[in-house]
Amino acid sequence: MFEATAAFIRSTFNTSAFIPLHEPCFIGNEKRYLNECIDSTFVSSVGAFVDTFETRIAEYTGAKYAIATVNGTSALHVSLLLANVQPGDEVITQPLTFIATCNAISYCNASPVFVDVDRETMGLSPRALRTFLETHCVLEDATCKNRITGNIIRACVPMHTFGHPCRMDKIKAICDAYHIVLVEDAAESLGSYYRSQHTGTFGALGAFSFNGNKIITAGGGGCIVTNDATLASKARHITTTAKIPHSWEYTHDMIGYNYRMPNINAAVLVAQLEYLDSYIENKRRLAHEYWNFFAEHDMNFVTEPEKSRSNYWLNAIVLENKQERDHFLEVTNAQGVMTRPVWTLMHKLKMFENAQCGTLENAQWFEERVVNIPSSVRL
Ligand SMILES: *Cc1c(COP(=O)(O)O)cnc(C)c1O
Repeated sequence: MFEATAAFIRSTFNTSAFIPLHEPCFIGNEKRYLNECIDSTFVSSVGAFVDTFETRIAEYTGAKYAIATVNGTSALHVSLLLANVQPGDEVITQPLTFIATCNAISYCNASPVFVDVDRETMGLSPRALRTFLETHCVLEDATCKNRITGNIIRACVPMHTFGHPCRMDKIKAICDAYHIVLVEDAAESLGSYYRSQHTGTFGALGAFSFNGNKIITAGGGGCIVTNDATLASKARHITTTAKIPHSWEYTHDMIGYNYRMPNINAAVLVAQLEYLDSYIENKRRLAHEYWNFFAEHDMNFVTEPEKSRSNYWLNAIVLENKQERDHFLEVTNAQGVMTRPVWTLMHKLKMFENAQCGTLENAQWFEERVVNIPSSVRL
């Protein structure tokens, strides 16, 4: 029966070759801008393409400020530092995410606390978040204290899984009530909106990724967005070695990071951004075809949550159980149609095995059943 799915995917992509999960697509001005960039000799962290890229991302997302970084992980790391995450603090996130979310928390010498995801969104559940905070936390001097560990819960990082937005209005209201800084891991959700507002712009800071598998890419790259001028200028400072701007003097006023996106990456991204909307249309058409097929075959295809418009970065289906999932993975991969299970849940990794967790029923349920299916832009 899964042979039919593999055959359908093959016909949809109209090829007899191997079908990867997600291929980058370079059909615009990438080479032209790269040539311009090389000819200008401004290939590194100062250059016109970086500035243009930042302006375009701010316009696109509706954020006031955008700060380009070397990758999504560094964007998250700096966002958490600017959220004032201190050594020993705790940061709430979901166990169903890519490791980068938790790595960034760890780089701040803070610990992740895992709260369940929603069945509807696959992202952080506002209900689970509220339950965790009501059960384990108290507000003391305008900070949220974990009564079990005695530590401060400084930030909360929801992640918009596969491009499907979390319920940000509820999550934001809860974070505000508990004085927890909201930082969005929007690495997968460029072009996704919740209640017509772009993901990544609900919290104090949001982080995007332009890694090779993301909806647009420069091989690597990232970006921080914020509406706060002070946070924006701090982000710019800390990602550029905390150098005090001066024509010839090299003075630095803190330990900074070499996290600025090179101009050569920005050149590719400026070209990629010109096609982003057409990629999203293309992906939404694919998702619609998948939806039709899986509805006919009584299989569960993951669609955008209510009040959301998703970029459908990675399509996913939810199988009946783990055995069915494994069978599906075997049949499709054997046919040269790449499919992949979702990430191992973060609290099961040895680095986080002692992390505090809420009830993680939905995350566990998804882990055993979710499979990603080919999702590239079709030319
Ligand atoms: C891709 C991704 C990141 C950032 O990855 P980089 O490779 O560092 O750009 C962060 N979080 C999630 C959920 C991601 O999918």
